[in-house]
Amino acid sequence: MENIIKEVIGILEGTEIASELEAISCFFASVQPDFDHFMQKFGISCPSGCGNCCEHFIPDLTRSEALIIASFIIQSEKKDELMDMLQRDSGGCCPMYNKNDESHHCSIYAVRPLLCRMFLSACSSDKNGINRFSYCSNYGTSLGIAQSELKAFHPMAYYGERLRELPGNSSDTLLLPDAVRRSLERIALGMMYAGLYSDDGGESNPA
Ligand code: SF4
Ligand code: SF4
Repeated sequence: MENIIKEVIGILEGTEIASELEAISCFFASVQPDFDHFMQKFGISCPSGCGNCCEHFIPDLTRSEALIIASFIIQSEKKDELMDMLQRDSGGCCPMYNKNDESHHCSIYAVRPLLCRMFLSACSSDKNGINRFSYCSNYGTSLGIAQSELKAFHPMAYYGERLRELPGNSSDTLLLPDAVRRSLERIALGMMYAGLYSDDGGESNPA
């Protein structure tokens, strides 16, 4: 688990927010090896400098995905910069995309949503339940993965279902900017009750 998330869990220990953060952190830690294995098995890696998918995509988030991103932003040394990114009108581009960021061009890479983790790292299943691999435009169909080789892997829907079952989650989602703003407000309130923020001269409210 990211230290930065541990800090928020420690501050809000015993609250619903802390439980939800624990659950989503454990979930990401448990599924990431599957995605790494998928990429290793088929020799896939995103070319350095590419971030095309993020330039035309704004992810929908479950409540706990938004919560972990908001926690990361609140505790980040780059909090002001990340808050500005969240507020900007980015057109169809993900607001957290940063062409100059060396960490895969994602300003929140350590806590990125499930879908972003699975893109190019997991297969999908068609209406007959057969696993298929969707290539991104940069790869075209040049990878040549045999459909039979995909049988050993869980499809994206499997991980999505597990995500929705986490505490606080449901099938409801919101686009990243709205979802994270709501979570920032929620955490700010939680921290205010924990005595860390006050509206009478204490530290400024992170929301
Ligand atoms: S998934 Fe495709 S478009 Fe996105 S960064 Fe990787 S190679 Fe580029
Ligand atoms: S959260 Fe990060 S990885 Fe996902 S679309 Fe935005 S910039 Fe890309």
